[in-house]
Amino acid sequence: MGIENGLSAGFSPDSYDAIIVGAGYAGAVCARRLVESCGFKVCVLERRDHIAGNAYDYVDEAGILVHKYGPHIYHTVNERVNEFLSRFTEWTDYQHKVLANIHGTLMPVPFNHRSLKLAFGDQKGEKLYQKLVATFGENKKVPIMELREKNDPELVEVADYVFENVFLYYTMKQWGQTPDQIDPSITGRVPVFVGDDDRYFPGAPFQGMPAEGYTALFEHMLDHDCIDVFLGVDARDLLKVSETSVAVCGRPYGGEIIYTGPLDELFGLDLGALPYRTLDMEFETLDMDQFQPVGTVNYTTSEDFTRITEFKNMTGQVVPGKTTIMREYSKAYTPGSGETPYYAILEDQNLELYRRYRERVAGLVNFHCVGRLAEYRYYDMDGVVASALDLSDEIIAQHS
Ligand code: FAD
Ligand code: UDP
Repeated sequence: MGIENGLSAGFSPDSYDAIIVGAGYAGAVCARRLVESCGFKVCVLERRDHIAGNAYDYVDEAGILVHKYGPHIYHTVNERVNEFLSRFTEWTDYQHKVLANIHGTLMPVPFNHRSLKLAFGDQKGEKLYQKLVATFGENKKVPIMELREKNDPELVEVADYVFENVFLYYTMKQWGQTPDQIDPSITGRVPVFVGDDDRYFPGAPFQGMPAEGYTALFEHMLDHDCIDVFLGVDARDLLKVSETSVAVCGRPYGGEIIYTGPLDELFGLDLGALPYRTLDMEFETLDMDQFQPVGTVNYTTSEDFTRITEFKNMTGQVVPGKTTIMREYSKAYTPGSGETPYYAILEDQNLELYRRYRERVAGLVNFHCVGRLAEYRYYDMDGVVASALDLSDEIIAQHS
């Protein structure tokens, strides 16, 4: 049937072997695999008016392909993920580069050999670089929190500079907390790079952008006779989950349910709300060919927004005389406000709250949680796809 707005008149849950909540990566990957490997008929319920979850892209009024929910750059070391997604798209060979605006000077991030020279001057920068090479080796990634533990005065100087000028203010804007207060894995995503590679994801063997965009990738993934997608449908209106049973449209449901939304919402937040950060995205179209030299510039010492992305620089699209940029403003997420929960806040008490929600569905053999929201994880796209491939493997094994 394809993609429809709203539920079809004769919608019957029992005509589906699986009901999937959410048409982002987690939901779409599971849908495709279950129809192909189990011969299932599945429906995907999506409350937004489009597929592709937070990876959704569209052409704006200026004719420029933009990412509605923030800049998305595909990168992975996972061959299986890459093979699976590559069935549904060609890739461009875009290699993402980010510059930090540090008091008006643009320096590569992850902070690397060239950044050191820009920050400290050629001679001193080289000397400090040689110290990093002697300590960690060449082409090594060193998380800032690890670098800060070193006692050597030259390494302390580098660590202090990078901490103050790359991480402190940006992290305060993004998380409302200092780098010492947040989980070290978060700043560890953007380590100091002891080398010359100035890509944001050095060492990722597969990176690029889907040649026709992310939404097209999802259109291809969901294009199957046995997948029905219903947009504008909030699954909470149909689904009733308790610790012992799952009902859909008021009747017990025996098929598989794959849930990719926030777990607390499913229970009316009755144990308390899972905390998230959300973003305000500010789009602007400018009458110029190019605004900035790279895809993204991080504002690490100034401004209220965290970063500016210029989409044409990432997609390679040619639109003379016009370019669309986007600024991201981070803030605490308020449940029920219509905001999007973008980033789980990885703190012990939040993970404990998540665990309590998760325990509630642990006894339901046909109810599965997968994805960045439903697993309350800081997943990149490839991490979600890997998790969805694993879950679908398990379900396929049970049905074969
Ligand atoms: P989502 O994409 O959030 O999809 C879940 C879907 O479920 C949503 O469409 C939602 O509307 C729907 N849903 C939820 N509840 C219900 C309900 N009750 N009923 C019906 N539908 C429901 N990753 C990268 O690899 N590279 C990047 O450059 C990158 N950049 C990012 C930038 C930002 C600002 C953000 C926030 C994330 C970025 N990511 C990036 C991560 C990437 O967006 C996620 O890993 C991925 O999109 C998550 O997929 P998902 O299916 O788990 O969740
Ligand atoms: N970060 C920073 N300065 C930067 C880049 C990243 O302080 O210039 C920190 C910040 O805490 C951020 C985290 O590193 O939230 C992870 O950055 P990444 O670019 O991976 O975040 P995402 O793209 O997921 O928003």
